[in-house]
Amino acid sequence: MNDIRPPPPLAVLQEVFGYDAFRGLQGEIVEHVIGGGDALVLMPTGGGKSLTYQVPAIVRHRAGRGVTLVVSPLIALMQDQVGALEEVGVHAAFLNSTLDGDEARGIERELLSGRLVLLYAAPERILTPRFLAMLDSLHERGLLSLVAIDEAHCVSQWGHDFREEYLALGQLAERYAGVPRMALTATADEITRADIVQRLVLERARTFVASFDRPNIRYTIVEKDEPKRQLLRLLRDEHEGEAGIVYCGTRKKVEETAAWLEGEGIAALPYHAGLDTAVREKHQNRFLREEGLVMVATIAFGMGIDKPDVRFVAHLDLPKNIEAYYQETGRAGRDGEPAEAWMAYGLQDVVNQRRMIDDGTAGEEFKRVQRGKLEALLALCEAHDCRRVRLLGYFGEASQPCGNCDNCLVPPDTWEATEAARKLLSCIYRMQQASGIGYGAGHLLDVLRGKHTDKVAQHHHDRLSTFGIGAEHDEARWRGVLRQLVALGHVVTEGEYNTLALTDGARAVLKGGVPIVLRVPREAPARARVRRDGKVSKAGRAGVAATLDADAQARFAALKAWRAEIARAHNLPAYVVFHDATLAAMAQQQPATLDALATISGVGAKKLEAYGREILRVLAD
Ligand code: ADP
Ligand code: ZN
Repeated sequence: MNDIRPPPPLAVLQEVFGYDAFRGLQGEIVEHVIGGGDALVLMPTGGGKSLTYQVPAIVRHRAGRGVTLVVSPLIALMQDQVGALEEVGVHAAFLNSTLDGDEARGIERELLSGRLVLLYAAPERILTPRFLAMLDSLHERGLLSLVAIDEAHCVSQWGHDFREEYLALGQLAERYAGVPRMALTATADEITRADIVQRLVLERARTFVASFDRPNIRYTIVEKDEPKRQLLRLLRDEHEGEAGIVYCGTRKKVEETAAWLEGEGIAALPYHAGLDTAVREKHQNRFLREEGLVMVATIAFGMGIDKPDVRFVAHLDLPKNIEAYYQETGRAGRDGEPAEAWMAYGLQDVVNQRRMIDDGTAGEEFKRVQRGKLEALLALCEAHDCRRVRLLGYFGEASQPCGNCDNCLVPPDTWEATEAARKLLSCIYRMQQASGIGYGAGHLLDVLRGKHTDKVAQHHHDRLSTFGIGAEHDEARWRGVLRQLVALGHVVTEGEYNTLALTDGARAVLKGGVPIVLRVPREAPARARVRRDGKVSKAGRAGVAATLDADAQARFAALKAWRAEIARAHNLPAYVVFHDATLAAMAQQQPATLDALATISGVGAKKLEAYGREILRVLAD
């Protein structure tokens, strides 16, 4: 049964998915897996991982090798993933707890017959005796074609997505020896990679590491001033009517921010693990299906979200580390159109993150790793040079200044803050020495700047030699100095009042042995300056539609309205029917025949057959 000649993978890509060519490493990976090799695939979010197992699944199925099993933790998204495959004419299904008994049995029959091309299931399901028995039966008959383990970083305890059930997936290696296996992830660091190889028994797998650059994403990190206002300005000035995600550190802040945005007339939904499953699912579905919604969420939201037209990801709180930041921001702009990653960060973020690590129950070794990761993230936030060079450098990739981050677009002014840092440290020292207790940041800055407040009078801090020695700088600059000193670990905050204290490291700075160069805080939003220069276009505003003339715009709108009807009828997100870019190309080129329509990227054989005539009619109208 294995002697049927398989079709060439490129032909499958073109016929089924309607794409011209493989991207980056896709072609190589596909060849390797079709040939029976194991693979570890590391690609950034939006890099095109799905096709690297879907194309081999189709090719091998047509060669009589049976079913590909896709292991995924994302139960809530399986319906859309399977729906997208059925839309392009690939027989796929999922088995999970959302199905009733009859539905599940129907799918099991399809599975056992070998007719299914792909089956999606969560690990806890796969490891049940009933499920394993079905896989055994397929395997014995040579009908288990391929095992693809998606979101493979879930097997690693180092990430925040660790799932116990993933650990047991290693047993599939021995049980189904000879069946090629793939592990796919967008997490690239060494520790995670080593965990995946070891725990999923992939020592013999070939590793494919794609470039982690996402050139269409613009990175911007601003000093937190009035975060809500800063966010609102971003949404109104840059991303009006566009879909995006706003990440917050706590559930409470998620609720508050979503409600506040609603009050400001911006359609926003909250999402966090404390909400009912039904509410979470409803909000997720609305975000995927409707246009222009803002999802305000904790990190509980986002894994597996393959909505292609998310135009911005904003962080109101510092993420946990650079890996998390990169995964979260990677959810913007999967369609390759301009998108933005924006973050506001301030002293409190640094304090909170440090405290979370210190107060955690993890062992010292684990904490040491976490502190190192936090430091790398803080260095990124404080950087005056290209953010992308630093991000990619963190993942071991060398690059040149990108021209598409805040620091490249408007190089920040810097100032020599070594002297100021010494003044600040000696002021903390004097206050502590004089009063025997520590003080918080607000009071420290008042003393430094020589402000006669009640508290200053009460504690006689106007008598200190350091009173007013920092009058030459404004408060924003001093906050920057303090934040930097906390980030560098020379100052720590203690107790429930966040009182400041020096560490051993402060001594070297006090002696002037540690040069400190800081960014000058920006008063106006950097962006306003960008626009006055006239150099730079907006990060948002989907480029596809922006290039259409008025007539084409009208056709584009008509196609979108048509697509919305189909999507509703099939209970799928609109982008599963066709991407914006595909509709824009149709509007632009106005194909008059099915043959002409077939040449547009994203139009495969099945969609041409199902929708071709209707599209030509919409265009003709
Ligand atoms: P990942 O799973 O790596 O985050 P996806 O597999 O969802 O990324 O792919 C991201 C987007 O890129 C999808 O919309 C997909 O249709 C598109 N895409 C992937 N490969 C190609 C290709 N070779 N040609 C055109 N579009 C592609
Ligand atoms: Zn740059």
